[in-house]
Amino acid sequence: MTGMRTRAVHGGREDLAGLGVHVPPVDLSTTYPVPDQVAGGEALQAWAGGAHTAASPVYARLHNPTVARFEQALADLEGTERAVAFGSGMAAVTAVVQAACLLRDRPHVVAVRPLYGGTDHLLASGLLGVRTTYAAADRVDTAIRADTGLVVLETPANPNLDLADIADVVARAGDVPVLVDNTFATPVLQNPAAHGAAYVLHSATKYLGGHGDVLGGVVACSQERAEGLRQVRIVTGAVLHPLGGYLLHRGLATLPLRVEAAQRGAVELARRLDGHPGVGAVRHPSLPGGDPLGVLGRQLRGPGAVLAFTTREDPAAVVARLRLVTPAVSLGSVDTLIEHPAALTHRLVDAADREESGVPRSLLRLSVGLEDVEDVWDDLDRSLSPRRVHLKSFPGDSAMVPDSGYGAKPDGVNNVTAF
Ligand SMILES: *Cc1c(COP(=O)(O)O)cnc(C)c1O
Repeated sequence: MTGMRTRAVHGGREDLAGLGVHVPPVDLSTTYPVPDQVAGGEALQAWAGGAHTAASPVYARLHNPTVARFEQALADLEGTERAVAFGSGMAAVTAVVQAACLLRDRPHVVAVRPLYGGTDHLLASGLLGVRTTYAAADRVDTAIRADTGLVVLETPANPNLDLADIADVVARAGDVPVLVDNTFATPVLQNPAAHGAAYVLHSATKYLGGHGDVLGGVVACSQERAEGLRQVRIVTGAVLHPLGGYLLHRGLATLPLRVEAAQRGAVELARRLDGHPGVGAVRHPSLPGGDPLGVLGRQLRGPGAVLAFTTREDPAAVVARLRLVTPAVSLGSVDTLIEHPAALTHRLVDAADREESGVPRSLLRLSVGLEDVEDVWDDLDRSLSPRRVHLKSFPGDSAMVPDSGYGAKPDGVNNVTAF
């Protein structure tokens, strides 16, 4: 097999030279002429049954060639037979629950916390008609029942970077399929299917798109499981728009480079944050104690570019002082993003459950982008130590200088070295 970077650039593009074009065409048709209505009906029947190909797309909710290119490219990167794309990561999670649990009349889910807040809320709310038992990764076997249709796992987990041993959870799940949310690692750093995961899910909104301008989700799996997902997608209509498919496919080409570069920055920032007087605990697999199960190297090829840390001060106050880092939910974009999980992404998770799963109120999640690491560090360091410069400037008198006096320099002042 060719290397990751080569596959990222060439996947889903094998036929382009034959078509005489350099970039994939975008097919925006919502409907396709079927002059032979009998043949059209047969194609519709094939799609509805979950087929991967048929004589005509018939209608855009059944199939879209631009989206299919992205799906094939992603499956190549994950090392699975197929991938099925959706309009968002949450639509993808929903479709897996519907295909694995509801289509098979197994309405029980076992889930390992922490999970992305939306996933946690979806499973806990009962909205989909499934009941969920939460269990620690090493206790999944004890929670499995005769009607369990799915085990849900995130590793590295959102937001606190908890790591799990996928093969161990798969073994504990027995014949119940395991869904691994691989959003944080991306296929560049981890291929859960190689460790037995039945469904590998991405919020494509994050690293796969990589530029904060497209919402999508995708599930990599076997041809057989993809059939169930396509059956569900056709009737629920949770499709990805072809322009989104185009952008996600384009994003894959630079995915390895973006992830490697952002990861380098994250390793450096994690090291510096660890030991910063304004910081409590730092969570990143690169740090001592950050990989208690030893999955780095054997399952996870690198620590990734998201980290989390607790602040000594009110985390909201720290975020409010940042000037370069973008205070926003989401992750995996070109710019560094920071957010307060207890206030935002994990707000809908019961507070006691959240704390118990290792997500304290003082935790901030940082998705390191592609900026110069020194600039991101300057911003973080200044925001985490509001009084430090005062200590330097006014020895012995720091408590009397208001915090707001620092950090109010207009943009560009730093560049005017002549002054
Ligand atoms: C963002 C995210 C999701 C949800 O994806 P959307 O594209 O926002 O619907 C699911 N899982 C993880 C780990 C995420 O970070």
